Amino acid sequence: MPGRFYVTTPIYYVNDAPHIGHAYTTVAADALARWHRLLGEDVFFLTGTDEHGLKVARAAEANGLTPQQQADRTSARYKETWSLLDISYDDFIRTTEARHYASTQALMQAAYDNGWIELGTYEGWYCVACEAYYAPDDLLEGRLCPIHERPVEWLKEDNYFFKLSAFSDRLLEWYRSHPDAVTPESKRNEAVGLIRQGLNDISISRTSISWGVPVPWDRDHVFYVWYDALINYATAIGYGTDPARFDAWWPAVHHLIGKDILRFHCVYWPALLMAAGLQPPCRIAVHGFLLVGGDKMSKTKLNQIAPADLVPTFGSDGFRYHFLRDQQFGPDGDFSYEGMVARYNADLANNLGNLLARVATVVDRKCGGRGPRPDAGSHLAAVAADAYRTAAAAWERIAPHEALEATWRLVRETNAALEAAEPWRAPPGPEVDRVLGDALEALRIVALLASPAIPRASAEIWRRIGVEGSPGDARLPGGADWGGYRGGPVHKGQPLFPRLPSEG
Ligand SMILES: [Zn+2]
Repeated sequence: MPGRFYVTTPIYYVNDAPHIGHAYTTVAADALARWHRLLGEDVFFLTGTDEHGLKVARAAEANGLTPQQQADRTSARYKETWSLLDISYDDFIRTTEARHYASTQALMQAAYDNGWIELGTYEGWYCVACEAYYAPDDLLEGRLCPIHERPVEWLKEDNYFFKLSAFSDRLLEWYRSHPDAVTPESKRNEAVGLIRQGLNDISISRTSISWGVPVPWDRDHVFYVWYDALINYATAIGYGTDPARFDAWWPAVHHLIGKDILRFHCVYWPALLMAAGLQPPCRIAVHGFLLVGGDKMSKTKLNQIAPADLVPTFGSDGFRYHFLRDQQFGPDGDFSYEGMVARYNADLANNLGNLLARVATVVDRKCGGRGPRPDAGSHLAAVAADAYRTAAAAWERIAPHEALEATWRLVRETNAALEAAEPWRAPPGPEVDRVLGDALEALRIVALLASPAIPRASAEIWRRIGVEGSPGDARLPGGADWGGYRGGPVHKGQPLFPRLPSEG
């Protein structure tokens, strides 16, 4: 039976438009999904939008829309962006869908029935216009709303509280017995540190807002946006609606998240699952911020970059390759346009693009346009085998930059072999056939191994060198074995990755 691989992105909040920070996580999840499909695993890739909460209601009001209209509009923009970037999600969840209400209510009801949710009172400084509480430190002059600059009032309301404090020991025990559940280790340590500091019970419902999932046992309340949002991961595989499907996929889930939502995913979410009698997720991979010129992207700084600004120049593949190859998954990364151009020109235009163009040209001139078969004893066979082994291990630990670095070693070695043999100077014959057959086989394997990152170009490489089918339909590890290239018609074409001027 093939393994199962369930991978998720965070669901993105619809008060905001898609930018390269969202794209970074989503492209990484997509590449992982594609890699695991190549391994023949049963893959389920989930993304979507988080549509409840006051911020959405407020953004809607500012735009003269209802919250649902605001959610529909922004959700559609995410879908367009993912289509532009060739994101192969299996499901796009929206938290305003009926299925999500059903799952959220079922999971919270289970936690309530198990005795982990109780009514309490919440009190604090409240702005009526914001419909929100403020900590004393956030107030202007100690008494004014920081947004409306008008006096706040002391309000007390009934909230349902999740008894998070009761889960400290169980969470620490889970972290002890699952040392690799949260990666990288620095983020795992951060989560353990938060638990050790002591956990307070958390308010999970509101009576003052209505844009949310109703609390099933008390219709005066809706769940606070974060708690319904987390449950999307369970909704999409049928929690509360299709138990057999849920049991087949849970807890084999890999959550990809940014470090700003670590507390919710690495502390609250495992505890909430335990409260409902479920296993915590098998993996939470945390990445850093994608900085722009050293700064965090934000609406107020106006330094957000939309994928649609970059794709016309770099193509979907060039965009994807940059974020997978240059941004290490884990630490903070820094985006620069110049860096993106440099990487595109070096790896895609020069190394890979030139290799394909060169091989196609020489096959056309010396082999009558038919690609010769590779030599079983080629020294490139060992390089290819090593590229596969290294790349496979790197994808497994969510290190796409290392996987691609290993794959490009084969590109460089193949270029070097061509330069050493100079088949363009030699007369047609077995020696030229041998060199070109090896280069074609290396190209076939590179396209296959790189297809999770550059799916369009990979398919085009196969088409041009006369390999039948699409790399996305191939299976590893067998597909990467040396000798798979059977020869075939080789087509010249336009540059796969036209070189970009280095002055942006
Ligand atoms: Zn206010």
